[in-house]
Amino acid sequence: MNIKQIFKNNQKWVQSKLNIDPNYFKNLSEGQNPDILYIGCSDSRVTAEEIMGVSPGEAFVHRNIANMVPNTDLSAMSVIDYAVLHLKVNHVVVCGHYYCGGIKAAMQSKDLGILNPWLRNIRDVYRTHRVELNSINDEELKYKRLVELNVQEQCINVIKTAEVQRANRERGITVHGWVFDIHSGKLIDLKIDFDKILKNVMEIYHLD
Ligand SMILES: [Zn+2]
Repeated sequence: MNIKQIFKNNQKWVQSKLNIDPNYFKNLSEGQNPDILYIGCSDSRVTAEEIMGVSPGEAFVHRNIANMVPNTDLSAMSVIDYAVLHLKVNHVVVCGHYYCGGIKAAMQSKDLGILNPWLRNIRDVYRTHRVELNSINDEELKYKRLVELNVQEQCINVIKTAEVQRANRERGITVHGWVFDIHSGKLIDLKIDFDKILKNVMEIYHLD
């Protein structure tokens, strides 16, 4: 990776945008109005805008190791708060991906130092679904299934927040669980039953 090349690339990119629309950056500087909050993994192969085919200004993005939404993570919680309350997005997406290093690490017993508490959140997902996961003998299929179940559990964490519950009542905000399959390039909608999860979660996590 040549760092100087990045600035050359940037100049080319600026020019290509201006060639199509001389006001492109002027318009971009006037504000953002994204309709979607995308929560994904930091993995360099899973770029939010590129896999969704959206442009700057169209998606508010949060990425961390293994697309987690820990209940006490100030960064994730602030992003959700800002996107839902202030930007008024109508869709929140949690997008995981197969072959996720974070998920793989959580399936192993290695002590990874500062990463341990982060990975523990994934291990909690494993524990919650251990009957299903332990019934899968094929290691790769088990790994893939944990990726999917982790997405589902992080969607639940999104739904637990007061902002999302309120926005659902007020304007019908929806939470989606997706998986990006690096092997095929395809985005898969896990079709999580948002209404059912919401109903279930409300019994315990309801906030006015
Ligand atoms: Zn990942």
